[in-house]
Amino acid sequence: MQNRQQLRQNWNRDMSQGTAREGPALLQGLVYGGVCGRKMAIQNRAAREKRSPSYLCQGEYEDGASHICQSMTTRPVDAGVVAAFLDAISPVRLEVAMRVLEQVEHTVAALARW
Ligand SMILES: [Zn+2]
Repeated sequence: MQNRQQLRQNWNRDMSQGTAREGPALLQGLVYGGVCGRKMAIQNRAAREKRSPSYLCQGEYEDGASHICQSMTTRPVDAGVVAAFLDAISPVRLEVAMRVLEQVEHTVAALARW
């Protein structure tokens, strides 16, 4: 059931969570604007422009507003996510996670013997 739900989420439609796609932005399809909560698009730069791409919340603009909701370059956002990821998988936390997993496996095995 969980796998099926995840696959549905990965379809990347408007109502679903989406999944990371290949491209210059790390979080393509995964970033939501903090102002309106809509999924943010990626604006890629032309090769001659030496700026990184941007996350762009343009839902309201598409609905007729005169401005886009918000935009930001991908670099600081992606860097923050990478830092949080590396912190989460640091050896200490990984060791704790492995011990918890071991504990769960013991519990499952004990229950299976009942
Ligand atoms: Zn927005």
